[in-house]
Amino acid sequence: MKLQEKYKELRNKPSALLATNFYNFETLNGILQAAAVIKSPIIIQLTESSIQYMGLPVAFSLAKSAIQYYDVEAWIHLDHGGSYELAAKCMDAGFNSVMIDASEKPFRQNVEITRRVVKLAANYGACVEAELGYVAKLGQSTEKRGFTEPKEAKAFVEETGVDALAVAIGSAHGFYKEDPKLDMERLSRIRAVTDSALVLHGGSGIPHAELTEAIKRGICKINLATEIKNIFMKTLQKQLENESEIDLRKVFPPATQAVTELVTGKLKVVNG
Ligand SMILES: [Zn+2]
Repeated sequence: MKLQEKYKELRNKPSALLATNFYNFETLNGILQAAAVIKSPIIIQLTESSIQYMGLPVAFSLAKSAIQYYDVEAWIHLDHGGSYELAAKCMDAGFNSVMIDASEKPFRQNVEITRRVVKLAANYGACVEAELGYVAKLGQSTEKRGFTEPKEAKAFVEETGVDALAVAIGSAHGFYKEDPKLDMERLSRIRAVTDSALVLHGGSGIPHAELTEAIKRGICKINLATEIKNIFMKTLQKQLENESEIDLRKVFPPATQAVTELVTGKLKVVNG
C-alpha cells in the first residue's frame, strides 16, 4: 500500500504511524526488530546528514533489504529535505516519500517549492510532506514561537496538494527541558480545515498521554529521532566503561536491543 493511501486509512482512526530515523546498520536493525515482533507498520527515515554519512545508494539499499528481510510493512522517507534537488535524488533512488522543508522561508516560497516537489512526486507515485510554522530544530531557540495558523494550513494544503503536513503546535526537536504542552485546540482547528495527513515532529520526550491525545485529534505520523540516538549511545557508553572487548559483534547487540525496546514501547502507544 502506498503511504498516501495508508494516511487516508488512518484519518478517522485513533492510530498513527511511527517514523523513526536510523543512523547505521545497528539502529536500523533495532527499529525493524521492534516492528517485526509486534507486526506493526513503520516509516523508516533518513535525514540529509545520515544520507551523507552512509551514501545515498548504500543507505537506501540497506533500508530496503532490511525491510524485506524482516518482512515488515514499511516506507522509506526523506526527513527534512532541504532542497528540490535532494528530494528529486531520493525519489530517483526509490524513496516512497520525501519531506520538503521550506518552513523557514516565507509562506509564498514555501508554497512554490512544495508545489514543485508535489508535481515531480506524481511521476514516481511518491508521497510528499511539507512543514508550515516554526518547530525549533536542534540548536535553535525554543523560546521563539511560530505556531501553525489553521487558515494558512488550509490555503497551503489546497495550493500545494501536499499529502502530509508537519504542524507547529508546541513540539521541538531534541529533548525538552520541561514537559511540552501541545496546543491541542489548535490541532483540532487545523484538522477541521485540512485534508492532508498531519505530522508531529519532535516526538522524543513527549509524554505518552499527550501523544495519544494528539493522535485522537488528527496526527497521523509521529517522528522519533533523538530518543533513538540517546538510548543507543548511552547503552554503548555504559557497556564500554569497564570493558575491553574488541569484537564489535558482541559490543553492539545490547545497544541495538535497547533501541528495539524503546521503539516497541513507542509503537504500542502510537498504534493505539
Ligand atoms: Zn523533524
